[in-house]
Amino acid sequence: MVVEDDDTIGRLLATGLQANGYEVRWQRTGRGALIEAAGNAFDLVVLDLGLPDVDGVEVCRELRVIQPATVIVMLTARQDEIDVVAGLESGADDYLTKPFGMVSVLARIRAHLRRSAFAVGSQPVDDIDVGSLHIDVGARTCSVDGVPVALRAKEFDLLLRLAQDAGSAVSRGQLMSDVWDENWFGSTKTLDVHIASLRRKLGEALEDGALQAPPAITTLRGHGYRLEAA
Ligand code: CA
Repeated sequence: MVVEDDDTIGRLLATGLQANGYEVRWQRTGRGALIEAAGNAFDLVVLDLGLPDVDGVEVCRELRVIQPATVIVMLTARQDEIDVVAGLESGADDYLTKPFGMVSVLARIRAHLRRSAFAVGSQPVDDIDVGSLHIDVGARTCSVDGVPVALRAKEFDLLLRLAQDAGSAVSRGQLMSDVWDENWFGSTKTLDVHIASLRRKLGEALEDGALQAPPAITTLRGHGYRLEAA
């Protein structure tokens, strides 16, 4: 689904995606998008943040509730990092800033859809344990000391990637390329926001009854992150 009130950009996206074999629904308002999403499951939503009726961030938050598994790529003319962070925190998996080229949009969308298909279908189903953290790779669930932790798709992929190299540093570039897009360009703010939210959600397990602390995600300045058992 494309959610964009601007005729030129909306048509460019809709026709460009259709020409590449995607089935596309185009909605021009936030309300229209939410109604559409209540009745249809979408693999991916390209969501403009500047909509005429409901703020894109609010649309994103509600979309995330209606369709937890869909990939949401937000589109913003706002270069301001605060807007980007607000959008990511409201549930978007990724963002593109306007103006953009159709080639890069298609590359990004293809990478997202390939990755979610891969994540669902063909990963080895070995479980991973890091201290009190248990990851059920096949079921795509995780728990801390037996307390389930609900993660969004990209948060899960990020945790899984760090857990696969638990105790070792994983570089920002590696994380961006493995979890988001091998042809990543632009800011890696997305990564920091997802790490912050992962830390928060893992920590909440303690409030929900876990007795053992979750593994820590350590920031390695200028390099990346490391997941290590507490
Ligand atoms: Ca707009």
